[in-house]
Amino acid sequence: MAVRVGVIGTGWIGSEHIRRITDRVGGAEVVAATDIDADRAARAVAGTGARVLAGSEEVVAADDVDAVVVTSWGPAHAESVVAAVEAGKPVFCEKPLATTAEDAQRVLDAEARHGSRLVQVGFMRRFDPGYAQMKDVIAGGGVGTPLMAHCVHRNPTVPESYHSEMAAQDTAVHEIDVMRWLLDDEISSVQVLTPRRTSHRFEHLRDPQFMLFEMAGGARVDLEVFVNCQYGYEIGCEVVGEEGTVRLPEIPGAVVRSAGRRSTPVLQDWVQRFAAAFDTEFQTWADEVAAGTPTTGPNAWDGYAAAVVTDAAVRALHSGGVVETGIKARPAFYA
Ligand code: NAP
Repeated sequence: MAVRVGVIGTGWIGSEHIRRITDRVGGAEVVAATDIDADRAARAVAGTGARVLAGSEEVVAADDVDAVVVTSWGPAHAESVVAAVEAGKPVFCEKPLATTAEDAQRVLDAEARHGSRLVQVGFMRRFDPGYAQMKDVIAGGGVGTPLMAHCVHRNPTVPESYHSEMAAQDTAVHEIDVMRWLLDDEISSVQVLTPRRTSHRFEHLRDPQFMLFEMAGGARVDLEVFVNCQYGYEIGCEVVGEEGTVRLPEIPGAVVRSAGRRSTPVLQDWVQRFAAAFDTEFQTWADEVAAGTPTTGPNAWDGYAAAVVTDAAVRALHSGGVVETGIKARPAFYA
């Protein structure tokens, strides 16, 4: 039987995931959804057969909802995730798991009380084929012990509502998760440097930002976050080990030769770049939920660790100094 999914929050990505589950994921169907704006929820489920419920409590409690997808805005995530865990239902939560480490801790506490893991966090890069290849190489010892990594995260533009702290909370959070995963280590300190500001910016925004992370084992990661780079969406990652390097492959684009030039298009947004990763992420989650096995994607501990590091990165942005994350040891429950 298909996994019956209830969706909380039907804005941009909630609507995308409803279409994804309906059109592209096998073995799952959306049966209920809610949003603060009920009309928006109705538009999001139109044609799927799913019904609109009054609120997140109703979605979690519904007898025909086997699993919950949380795609509301970040500050509301933890409450819905805790409710789903307390109801004993698997829950997929878009990043961030929580907007503070304290709220993320509430999710860890709820899972501990429940006694088994039910939470997956939407760090979809782990399902990107290029990052998966890098993981295989590093885990297989293909470049020796990792020493350093160089990362780039560029967006063409951001809306005026984007503020300087979001460089860590919304943008770098993806690299924070993926570097913890690739290097199999926690981040122990962060520093945020602020180069000359681009003139293509809103007055309130510090852009670009240059972030330096230290892993507990001593490896160093640098990350350029530049969210008004104008020309396109670009993600770069290279890990340097004692015996070699491994680099994230680019998505291939047709090579055009014309008017004396050779060119390839530059992707314009993360939807194009990570569409396949989102599909794989959801198919894997649905398969594992259907099998009744713990999901193997990023878990509540990964969501907690990302919250601890982004909190530290925001403090580092304001202080200019090196900020220790103070992350505690990973509980055996998440080994
Ligand atoms: P969005 O368009 O603002 O959608 C959020 C929706 O949830 C809105 O319709 C909002 O209603 C509703 N909502 C807020 N609190 C709610 C609650 N307690 N119960 C029910 N509905 C609630 O935002 P989005 O771009 O879809 O992003 C949603 C989440 O996905 C964010 O956490 C974001 O960081 C994450 N995301 C992840 C990725 C990724 O790369 N994995 C990409 C994009 C977004 P109102 O607008 O009326 O408040």
